[in-house]
Amino acid sequence: MKDKLKCGCPNPTTELKLEADFADPLWCAKCDQNLDLEDLPISPQLMKEIEDWSIRYGEWIDLDTDTLVDRGIELEDKHNKESLKIYEKLKNELGVKYELIYSPSTTAKLYKYK
Ligand SMILES: [Zn+2]
Repeated sequence: MKDKLKCGCPNPTTELKLEADFADPLWCAKCDQNLDLEDLPISPQLMKEIEDWSIRYGEWIDLDTDTLVDRGIELEDKHNKESLKIYEKLKNELGVKYELIYSPSTTAKLYKYK
């Protein structure tokens, strides 16, 4: 566990954004660079929870056909609801040293059902 997050900013960033993606769901809120989740100073339990949640990102998209899977919009909604819980827990564990913002996933809107 390290206590420094490297991004494009001159100093290690303390302004973070939680946004699920096919990459790690953690970004610098200033320069928008993707950050390594494993560099976060958080408990292994929460880390696991974030990984499990992050891995299911995009399960509403059928990547073979570039369309939404059945009830894809609902799946994304559900994922976003879980994001909020993750966000609260993460905010709690990071404490006052970090600023954390949350950005919901809106990718399902870009896809159509088959
Ligand atoms: Zn940065």
